[in-house]
Amino acid sequence: MPEAPAAPTAPSGDRIDRVRLSLVFLPLTAPVSDTRVAGRQQPLTEVAFLFAEVGTVDGLRGLGFSYAKRAGGPALYAHAKEIAPQLLGEDPNDTGRIWEKLAWAGASVGRGGIAAQAIAAVDIALWDLKSRRAGLPLAKLLGAYRDAVRCYTGLTSTPITEVVDNAQRALGAGVGGIMLRLGQPDPTADLERLRVLRERLGDSVPMMVDANQQWDRPTAHRMGRVLERFNLLWIEEPLDAGDTAGHAALAAALDTPIATGETLTSLTEHAQLIAADASDIVQPDAPRIGGITPFLRIAALADHKGLSLAPHFAMEVHLHLAAAYPRATWVEHVDWLEPLFNERIEPRGGRLHLPDRPGLGLTVSQKAVAWTTDHIEFTETA
Ligand code: MG
Repeated sequence: MPEAPAAPTAPSGDRIDRVRLSLVFLPLTAPVSDTRVAGRQQPLTEVAFLFAEVGTVDGLRGLGFSYAKRAGGPALYAHAKEIAPQLLGEDPNDTGRIWEKLAWAGASVGRGGIAAQAIAAVDIALWDLKSRRAGLPLAKLLGAYRDAVRCYTGLTSTPITEVVDNAQRALGAGVGGIMLRLGQPDPTADLERLRVLRERLGDSVPMMVDANQQWDRPTAHRMGRVLERFNLLWIEEPLDAGDTAGHAALAAALDTPIATGETLTSLTEHAQLIAADASDIVQPDAPRIGGITPFLRIAALADHKGLSLAPHFAMEVHLHLAAAYPRATWVEHVDWLEPLFNERIEPRGGRLHLPDRPGLGLTVSQKAVAWTTDHIEFTETA
């Protein structure tokens, strides 16, 4: 029988006395639209963020966030408002126990999806706070293996001449790898784009492709065989994100590594993927799967299987988590979130470098405050 959740037996003396939640809509400079998935998804014009700021009687602060694209932001915020009062009076150091407490509070709506993502903002804030208390960057608190992580940029599906220009600009700006999106209805058009890009960039530039779940099993196997010759670091989401058996068969059949996992929203789904040998590179997204606490469990499972790690999106958090992973790792350089924070993470020499500030090293920008549509603060009543 699992041990029942209990009050901490050795309280640190500190306790959570305030929690502030904000719903923030980050506008994108240009709507992100993808012809490959036209009809399935509307162009993306903004990203909704749930920010959690946790404060303690010791005067420490932690900042965390999770996000929703297209739909789900207000639901995230609503769920967080329901569970956040349960944080008050808790020892902020007890990240595992608090995660479980909040999961039990929303157990009726599951341990993944929006329920987990509402917890994620708080969980990330608690890890930020814990590392600020230690006076260390989060990666150092977790136990870093490196102070910089290789980074790549994913290019949107614009005409190939534009893709080549954007790739060269990204490499010139210090990014270390280029991802091309495949998955058009005509696979030969995909291959021609990849051929042009590989030829223009040369063989030494690390490259990967992302099919964003657009292939069925036969197409993925045929494409996978043709793609072997391009010396790719990985093929991402070749199949439907839930097709674990299909990914496992593909990973066994190909030399090129298979990467997947960004669409999954829970620890359990990732554990099943890893147990089934369904990918060579795991791609958990901490805000999407419930925060840093479940991410570390996924990382432990992946490490035991000898897998590589390439977390999805939110480089501001994932840089720290990738730096603390023992095996090969990449982070995605996505600058969308930059306007939300006062600090910048710039690529240099093909890598993102850990900030030397404690915690995540982030503070909320005035722009983010201006983009806040709703907020609420819970405080301990004396
Ligand atoms: Mg992807």
